[in-house]
Amino acid sequence: MEAVLVTGGAGFIGSHLCEKLLLDEYRVICLDNFITGSRQNIQQLISNRKFQLVEHDLIEPLPKEILDRQDIRSIFHLASPASPNKKSPKSYINHPVETLLVNSQGTYHLLEYARKIHGRFLYASSSEIYGDPKVSPQNESYFGNVNPNGIRSVYDEAKRFGEALTMAYVRTHDVDGRIVRIFNTYGPRMQKDDGRVVSNFITQALSQKPITVYGEGKQTRSFCFIDDMLNGLLKALFTQNTKGEVINLGNPDERTILELANKIKSLTQSSSEIIFEGLSQDDPKMRKPDIQKAKNLLQWNSEVSLDEGLKKTIAYFKSV
Ligand code: UDP
Repeated sequence: MEAVLVTGGAGFIGSHLCEKLLLDEYRVICLDNFITGSRQNIQQLISNRKFQLVEHDLIEPLPKEILDRQDIRSIFHLASPASPNKKSPKSYINHPVETLLVNSQGTYHLLEYARKIHGRFLYASSSEIYGDPKVSPQNESYFGNVNPNGIRSVYDEAKRFGEALTMAYVRTHDVDGRIVRIFNTYGPRMQKDDGRVVSNFITQALSQKPITVYGEGKQTRSFCFIDDMLNGLLKALFTQNTKGEVINLGNPDERTILELANKIKSLTQSSSEIIFEGLSQDDPKMRKPDIQKAKNLLQWNSEVSLDEGLKKTIAYFKSV
């Protein structure tokens, strides 16, 4: 039985991925330093004999617990703070240097390891590498419109560096690496305090507090349900013809933030009022993935509608 290393395995996407890999009969090593991940996310996995938690900061060289294992064949590199909301303690804005280093130094440690074990490697990049895009939808050949030193740059430029490093190892050392660009993803186990729009709006709506739309709410995002994202990630790593490829994963169903606020208000039957607050610097005005490449290469599509996904997510938030 082969083992898979998931960095950021205690995060929102990572913990779901660990769970799914265990169901698919893999051994799983979850690496996390818990700066933004949570023990709660993986508590149901701890007793599984095929699951190992390694508490480690990827900025440091990989620990012995990992280097000593002989069964690791694949690596999902998801570790990074990911929320842009400076009001959240988990935001990358509040962990700027850690964010830059986990995506640079951390990625370097993992690529060296992938090279050594001749393993498959997946780098979790982000739609953020497109910055505030000037084209819509964004396909993989678009270079993006990124402020190299604004407040979001610690994430955007870190992810761009991680992409460059991954491709350098593919080209120079023949590492079996690929890059996925993850667009906005939501679902059960999002953290209440991470400041993302879906978790904020649901939490606010359920507690009858004001729903905080930043700016006028005309900016757009396209929301992908976690189950779809997991299928895409697994296909991107395990499909044969993906070495050296860059693949968008997301749901192209584009909505304005105000529309999302109204939808969540109505699905929760909330009496919350919708209020408008200041927009942060460089907040992208639009975002919508072109997923034709994933469809062709992976035979993958996002299938869960926004209504269906939000209902499941609301049910989760009611239960915690
Ligand atoms: N947003 C909002 N209210 C909130 C949180 C976020 O209006 O309480 C907006 C934010 O300004 C952005 C969008 O929702 O335009 C998505 O924000 P999120 O932090 O979820 O992800 P991003 O796509 O910006 O990385």
